[in-house]
Parts: sequence; structure tokens; C-alpha cells
Amino acid sequence: MSTHDLVPLERARAGLDACVHCGFCLPACPTYLALEDENDSPRGRLLLMGALLDGSVRPDDPAVGTHLDQCLGCRGCETACPSGVPYGRLLEATRESLLPHRPLPFVARVVLGVFANEWALRPALALARLARASGIAALAARLLPARLAMPFAMLASTARPERQGYEPQGDGSRGTASLLTGCVMEGLFTEVNRATERTLTVNGWTMRTTDGQRCCGALHAHAGDADTARALARENIAAFERSGADVVVLNSAGCGAMCREYGHLLADDRAWAVRASAFSDRVRDVHQLLASAGPVMLPVPAHARDVAAGAIRVAYDAPCHLQHAQRIVEPPLAVLHAANGVSLVPLADSDQCCGSAGIFNLVLPEVAERVLAPKLVRIAESGADVVATGNPGCLMQIGGGLRLSGSEVQVRHPVELLDESYARAQRPG
Ligand code: SF4
Ligand code: SF4
Repeated sequence: MSTHDLVPLERARAGLDACVHCGFCLPACPTYLALEDENDSPRGRLLLMGALLDGSVRPDDPAVGTHLDQCLGCRGCETACPSGVPYGRLLEATRESLLPHRPLPFVARVVLGVFANEWALRPALALARLARASGIAALAARLLPARLAMPFAMLASTARPERQGYEPQGDGSRGTASLLTGCVMEGLFTEVNRATERTLTVNGWTMRTTDGQRCCGALHAHAGDADTARALARENIAAFERSGADVVVLNSAGCGAMCREYGHLLADDRAWAVRASAFSDRVRDVHQLLASAGPVMLPVPAHARDVAAGAIRVAYDAPCHLQHAQRIVEPPLAVLHAANGVSLVPLADSDQCCGSAGIFNLVLPEVAERVLAPKLVRIAESGADVVATGNPGCLMQIGGGLRLSGSEVQVRHPVELLDESYARAQRPG
């Protein structure tokens, strides 16, 4: 068998060669811990990639496909690896190489098709909001058997209580920022996007809107559909060039990690490589921006002190694409520390994946459930009232799991909690 048709993997070979097979990454791998099979570990998967390249296994071998499909792409192995193996890039190159040999499952093709096409995405998100607002999602989550109920529980967990906004006051001295609003974030977590804009304004940023932006392409890149990811990336780069903001800000860890990769994704495209790399250089995570000069702590007025005194216990769960892919660890904690009324409690194994991983939990729900189970136990042990995490997939996966397990614990984005504390500080007495 020729390796000509595995070109993306062939190009990434140097990263593969960096692996010394030490196994330090094994305890950091959620699928190895859940499935207890070396083939479902980083080291095992890297060996499979090498076997694909040397031709000892075929790209259409179903067993190889299964073990690579069962990787969450969480990149927990990357931060554990002493040799600097770029596992995330290797995985995406492998999946891109395998795509012509193994079509994606039907569910994946439908979901990726919807996210790539505005005409399908808008009505799909509107339908989801309708199911949430009408209570159908919550009802289905209660009545259906667990496996079927999970997508509805995830959707129901995105509901937020209505609350009064406030007029954010800031001096605009930090520069201009524009939010990549995202598909699921703007469609189902609209309030988190508005909270992001308000808290950044309070922290000295002037917010600009960017028309013509699209899905970031992360779901497509992770599934191996790099061509669609590149097409979406080009549209976003052009849109944010037109908006001219100093920084492109993201509040979704997965989308942020993808946007930082645009330079790599389009490195071979002569017309776009420089623009893509300039775009990636402008990308910032919202926690990073907030924590880089603060965040501002607004004094709690006397009439709101009772709220601050009865602090809610918040456990922070680190999204993999913030912790491992973007290596942003402290800033979300700084945001939570700055939120009056929040008391942080430790969460064991908070750096372990929850099993969401883009559309992984829709395509391989059994594996996702096994990865989520220890997370739910840790959350219960923490005694938290709220789990805070900065990624829509994690918010929904943990939120859905908590709901189905009968837990009262809520899930929130850290920025929501900061925004609520700012709102309290500005509430008229
Ligand atoms: S990926 Fe890194 S940690 Fe894992 S076996 Fe290879 S060298 Fe060791
Ligand atoms: S990306 Fe995550 S699931 Fe995949 S091999 Fe690495 S640690 Fe394991």
C-alpha cells in the first residue's frame, strides 16, 4: 500500500517520531482510564498512526478506525508528554488522511453539514430554543430512557433565569475587541455572549461587532474535514480584518483553540497563510483579557452585601481546549476570584475531559458517558452549588449529566458569575 493518500499524516511525521513510548501520557488519558485498552491510549494511537504510515495496517481497517474515533481529542496527553509530541495536530492529520477511506457516520455528516451552512444552522438553533423555552426539552429529558434523554437534558441545561441587565461603564483605554460570537454560543448561550461584552467593557475594552463571521470550523477540523474548516476560516479571517478590532476575543475554549490554529491550518495556502497567521496572533480568550489587568472588582454596595455574605460555592472545571490546547490555567480562576458572592471550592481531576469533545458525545454516547461518570462523582464530592466552565460543549455535557443524575448543581460560564456580581454592584439601593 502506498502512503501517497496519507499526505497530511506523512507531513506530520516528525511529531510522531518525537514519541519515545515512555507511557507518561497514559494516566492523563480519559479513554485509556475508561476503556483500559492500550489501543485507546495516546501511546497506542501513536503506534497505530505509525503503522498506517509504514503500511502495516490499512487505512480502511475498522479496528484502527475505531480506536482513533474513540479519541476525544482532549489533548490531556500533550500537557503530560515530556517529549513535546504534538498529539492534537497528529490526530487531525490522521483523521484528514483517513476520511477518503472511511466516511464519517451519518449523525456526524448531518451535524457538520448543519454547522457549515447558515441556512440550516439558523433554523436548527431556533428549533432548539423553541424546544427549550416550551419545556419540551426538559420533559423529554425526564421521560425518555437515559441514552435518548441525554441530548434533551443537555439542551434543557442551557436555560438561564431571566435577569436585569445593566449599563456597563468603562473607559475604553485597553483598545478594541470583537467577539467571535460562535454558533452554539450565540444560539443557545446568548446571555453569556452579552455578559462577555459587558464585563470586557467594564474592564476597559471598547467592543466592536463583526458582520459576516461564521462557525469557527473546529468540529470539522476535529472530524478530519479540513477543507470545510479551511473555507470557514477564510471567511472569518476576512470578516475580522474588515472589523479592524485590535483583538478577536472568544469565550468558547474549543473555538478559541481552533482560531489559534488558523495559521497552521492555512500554512500551505499562499494567498491566505500570512493573513491566517496574523488572525491567530490577534486571538485572545476572554478570561485572558479580563485577568491581564484585573479583573476589575466592583465594590459591593451595602444593600447587596447579604448576597455576597451568602456566597455560592463554585467549583471550576477546566475545558480541555483551554487547559491543554491553549494552556490557559490561572485566568479563569482570577475571574471567579473577582466575582463577589463566589466562594471557590476545589474540584478533583478538574483537568480531565468531561466527554463532550465536540460531537463525540453524539456519535459515541456510550464512551462519552463512561468518561463523564467520574466527573459527576467528583462534582458531588466537591460540595459545589455551581460548576463553572468556559466551553459550550462542557457546559452542556456536564449540565445534561447532572440533570439526568437528579443533581441540583447548576453549570455556568465563569464570565456569567463575574457579570452577575457587576450587576449586583450597580443595582440601585
Ligand atoms: S506521547 Fe509523550 S508521554 Fe506519551 S508515550 Fe509518547 S513520548 Fe511518552
Ligand atoms: S487526546 Fe485525550 S483521549 Fe485522545 S489520546 Fe490524548 S488524552 Fe487520550
